[in-house]
Amino acid sequence: MKIAILGGGISGVALARLCAADGHRVVVLEKAERPGGLCKSRRYGEFTFDEAGGHILFSKDKRVLDWQLQRCGGEAGTVRTVRNTKIRWHDRWVPYPFENGVGHLSKAAIVDCMAGYVEAYVGRRTGAPCPANFGDWIQWRMGSGFARHFMVPYNEKIWKCDLRTMASDWVAGRVPEAPIEDILRSAVGLDTEGYTHQSVFWFPKHGGFEAMVRGTVDGGGFELQTGVAVRRVEQRGDGFVVDGTAFDLVVNTVPLPQIEPTIADLPDEVRGDIRALRPISLVNLMLGVKLDEPLPPLSWAYLPFPEQGPVNRVTWFSNYSPHNAPAGHGSFLAEVTHRGELRPDAAWLGDVVGALDRAGILRREQVVLAEWCDNEFAYIDQNLAFAARIGRVRRWFDQSGYLTFGRFGRYEYHNSDQCVGRAMQVHEHIRTLARTGTRVPLQLD
Ligand SMILES: Cc1cc2nc3c(=O)[nH]c(=O)nc-3n(C[C@H](O)[C@H](O)[C@H](O)COP(=O)(O)OP(=O)(O)OC[C@H]3O[C@@H](n4cnc5c(N)ncnc54)[C@H](O)[C@@H]3O)c2cc1C
Repeated sequence: MKIAILGGGISGVALARLCAADGHRVVVLEKAERPGGLCKSRRYGEFTFDEAGGHILFSKDKRVLDWQLQRCGGEAGTVRTVRNTKIRWHDRWVPYPFENGVGHLSKAAIVDCMAGYVEAYVGRRTGAPCPANFGDWIQWRMGSGFARHFMVPYNEKIWKCDLRTMASDWVAGRVPEAPIEDILRSAVGLDTEGYTHQSVFWFPKHGGFEAMVRGTVDGGGFELQTGVAVRRVEQRGDGFVVDGTAFDLVVNTVPLPQIEPTIADLPDEVRGDIRALRPISLVNLMLGVKLDEPLPPLSWAYLPFPEQGPVNRVTWFSNYSPHNAPAGHGSFLAEVTHRGELRPDAAWLGDVVGALDRAGILRREQVVLAEWCDNEFAYIDQNLAFAARIGRVRRWFDQSGYLTFGRFGRYEYHNSDQCVGRAMQVHEHIRTLARTGTRVPLQLD
C-alpha cells in the first residue's frame, strides 16, 4: 500500500519504520524542519538539551524497551542510570514517590500524613465511593495530610486549575496505590522503593533524547518530507488524497486540534469536540552551569511550593549523559506549565533562576547559559468533559477509515514507549488490512 503518515514525532516515524519493513511505500509528512516532535533535542555550543523537559527511556513492556534501546545503539549507545528522584520539601530532600518518603518529613508532618492516610484508608475499606473529580480523589486516596503537604500544591502548580474541575479516571494507572505496610515502614524511617518499573532508566550517550528518533529514521526505509504542513486531507473512493497526492491509507499522529482544519470529511459535531480539546503548554528552561564540584547524583526533583517559583520539576540533565554538557560544566532543565498565558522574557527567566537558587537547586552565579523552549502541546487538560468528548472523537476516527494515534493524535497521556507500543498495534491492524483487503474499525486496548 501507499501510506501517508501525518506528523513525524516518535509515533509517526516508529509506525513508518514498521510498515516500510513490510514493503509498503510510506511517506511521513512533518511540519517542522526536523522530525522528533516532543522528543527533539537542541544544542547550544557544547551543551545538548531536550526541548520538552527531561525525557528518559524506560518501559514496562520489554519488547518496546528493547526496540527503543536498539534505535539508540543498544547498551553501548546509552547511559544506564539508577533513578534518584526527590521532592524539594521546604529545606529538605524527600525521596519520591512522596508516600515512600514520608519518614523524611518533619515529625508534625509525618503525623498529619499518617493520620489522614489511615482515615482515608478506613473510609475506602468501609465503602467510601471513588470520587469522579481529582481534587476529592486526592483526599479519598491519600488523605488530608498527604494532600496538604504535597499532592494539592504540586498538582495545582502543574495543572493550573481548581483540581475539582479535573476528572480522576486518568490517574488510575499512573498513580499506583502503595501497600499500607510500605507507607508505615516509610513513616518509621525504613526506606521503600515505589514505582519499580522506573527504578532504572536509559538515556542516549550523544545527541539527547532525539537520538532515539534519528535511530528510527536512519535506515527506516521510508520517505520523510520535512517543512511540510499538511493542508487538505480527504477520502476519495477507496483511498485518500493528501494535498493533491493519492494514498491508500492515511494515519494521523498530529495533535488533533492542529489537523482538524485540514480533514475535509469531519462531521461538524466531531469538529466541535476537537476544538474544545485544550492542551496544557510547557516552557522548558535550559540552563548551563559552571561547576567547581560535580553535581549531586540526582535525576530529577519536584518543586511543589509557590515560594520555589513557577517550576514544577527540575532535571539534573548532565547526569543523564556526560556528553550533555562540556567538561567542568553541568546542566539543568526546569519545567513551567501554562495555559497559553505565559510569554517568557529575560526578566522572567532571571526571576525563575533566582527562585531556583533560593530553593537550593543551583547557584545563580554559576549559570553560564539560560535559554527556553515553549511547547504548545505538552499535557492533556483532563477536565470533567474530556473523557466523553475524546470518546466521541476516537469513535468517529476508528470507524472512518482514517487511523489516528499519538500523544495528541489520540489524546492519550502516553510516554514515548507507549507511543511505540501503539505504533506496533496500529502496524498489526495495517498488516491485517493489507492481507484481507477489508477495512475494519481500529481497536486499541
Ligand atoms: C514534560 C514532558 C516529559 C516527558 N517525559 C517523557 C519521558 O521521560 N519518557 C518518555 O518516553 N516520554 C516522555 N514524554 C512523552 C513524549 O514526549 C511523548 O509521548 C512523545 O514525544 C509523543 O510523540 P508523538 O509522535 O505522539 O507526538 P508529537 O511529538 O507531538 O509529534 C507530532 C508531530 O506532528 C507535527 N505536526 C504538527 N502539525 C502538523 C501538520 N499540520 N502537518 C504535519 N506535521 C505536523 C509536529 O511538528 C510534531 O513533530 C514527556 C512529555 C512531556 C511533555
